[in-house]
Amino acid sequence: MSTMKVLGYSANAVGQKLEPFEYASPELKEHEVRVSITHCGVCHTDIHAIDDYYGITTFPFVPGHEIVGHVTELGPAVIGLKEGDRVGIGWQGRSCGKCEWCLKGETQLCMEIENTTVMVPYGGFSSSVVADYQFAYLLPSTMPSQDAAVLMCAGVTVYSALRTYVTSPALKVAIVGVGGLGHLAVQFARAFGCEITAISSSPAKKEQALGFGADHFIDSNDIDSMQQASFQYDLVVCTATDGIQWERLLNTIKKRGRMVLLGFPDMTFNSTNLVAHDLSVTGSLLGNPPTMREMLSFAQQHGITPMVELMPMSKVNEALRKVKQNEARYRIVLVNEAAE
Ligand SMILES: [Zn+2]
Ligand SMILES: [Zn+2]
Repeated sequence: MSTMKVLGYSANAVGQKLEPFEYASPELKEHEVRVSITHCGVCHTDIHAIDDYYGITTFPFVPGHEIVGHVTELGPAVIGLKEGDRVGIGWQGRSCGKCEWCLKGETQLCMEIENTTVMVPYGGFSSSVVADYQFAYLLPSTMPSQDAAVLMCAGVTVYSALRTYVTSPALKVAIVGVGGLGHLAVQFARAFGCEITAISSSPAKKEQALGFGADHFIDSNDIDSMQQASFQYDLVVCTATDGIQWERLLNTIKKRGRMVLLGFPDMTFNSTNLVAHDLSVTGSLLGNPPTMREMLSFAQQHGITPMVELMPMSKVNEALRKVKQNEARYRIVLVNEAAE
């Protein structure tokens, strides 16, 4: 099996279009599983990685980290999975198991983070992938594969942050950006019982944002509405990656309130609001494996459903273009017809 050929789509240099890429599937280590991929979501992080925004991409690079598929092979040390099981795999495909963070169970913060991504050596825009079994999650049997795919990165990212920072159901929460992450953040925050304002630079998304469960909607380009929202929110969850007016946004946070960043936006702002109002700005990355499992059952229990547009994996470049140009409503999931 180690000489099995895999067909993926790779970027061969910074910012390039993906090309079909055939490679030998990596040899299976003792606690790894090989998964035949049926679905893979397209995340904005894939585009950042192709553009080497994080400075860690090696080429050829096969993106894709919202993976659903079936286990086809198991290493001898794998526990709790069997051939044919339907599993989801997110951004993290392994961990070092030795660092301070792994020992605390916060594996998403592993010090070896560059080597822990499921995209090393090659990710989910592909016919199969290899990952440590501890990061291959059995899916609820009634959850559609395309929904599960999106929950693997977008879902756990928003759930983990809300679970940490929504300290009471009475919180007033603003979700900035109604996209792949934002449309799920609204649904999860609703299930947590918060009063939610969706803030977006696309006024056309208003009706859908309210449909996802937002109580209010603000067009971020409407200066008067943003001004009226001064000191309104206990928590601002920022899922947008660009076009953000930071000082205007910081001004909407209550004193001692918090903004949590879930995307990777470039930030520049005058520190006056931050200091004068005792604000905190923090990032939040993914979630640990127990949080992932909890998120899957929470999503199922509360009927949280990503809005998905399916495309064949062969149209991956078209999918990336739509995500880049904010045309995805709200998450594109690539379907690997060959693997079904
Ligand atoms: Zn992602
Ligand atoms: Zn580690």
